[in-house]
Amino acid sequence: MKRIALYGGTFDPVHAGHIAVAHGLSKLFALDEVLFIPAYIAPHKRKSRVTPALHRYAMLALATQDEPHLCISTVELDAPEQPYTFETLSRMQESLGRAAQLFFVLGADSWMEMNTWREWERVLASANHIVVTRPGYELSAEHVTGEICERVVDLRGMSVEEAAREIDGSEGLKIYITDAAFMDVSATAIRRAVREGRNESWLKQVPSPVADYIRKYGLYRGA
Ligand code: ATP
Repeated sequence: MKRIALYGGTFDPVHAGHIAVAHGLSKLFALDEVLFIPAYIAPHKRKSRVTPALHRYAMLALATQDEPHLCISTVELDAPEQPYTFETLSRMQESLGRAAQLFFVLGADSWMEMNTWREWERVLASANHIVVTRPGYELSAEHVTGEICERVVDLRGMSVEEAAREIDGSEGLKIYITDAAFMDVSATAIRRAVREGRNESWLKQVPSPVADYIRKYGLYRGA
């Protein structure tokens, strides 16, 4: 069975943290594919301004163009009327589920607020999850119920070989916690640095074709 990670987010813009997560997880979980799923507009972010989906998609395409196993799905962009993660996961299960083992990826910040998502328990019940540590965010399982806690497998501090034994020996759907990537980069900080013209602080935080794209199209310059 193929192993596919589903990596949802706003990707406004995709940055070095996202790419480090994709690389780290590919190695640790022996993934066949990482599928980035840009959100039409993430339901919990509707109040803030989000860059048009075409730009966010284009930046993802540039960031992944040389890496055959990093791909993009337009499942959410194609169905803006179905913006919720539980809907996306059920569509992915239908299209890939029988031929693949699916892992839904989220950073520590997203995990800690997951119980505010629409049908969050259904999301957790429909795939394996991978929660990735992130500098500045604590990581606990206090916000989920006991039954869900029992599914948590903490891979932090394990070597690739130890983690592989743990993952291969797991039965049923798990919630893996990993420190396979630990990078202090955020899209909010990048947007702010571009707006303020602080080039030295953001240029190295996005893949270079993405930096060129941001400058060419003048993204994030407005108030
Ligand atoms: P913003 O600052 O606009 O909220 P972001 O940097 O968190 O953006 P998103 O596109 O919202 O980026 O992130 C998509 C997913 O990737 C989320 O689950 C988020 O937690 C995770 N993520 C983003 N950056 C990192 C990072 N540096 N380390 C680990 N996970 C990350």
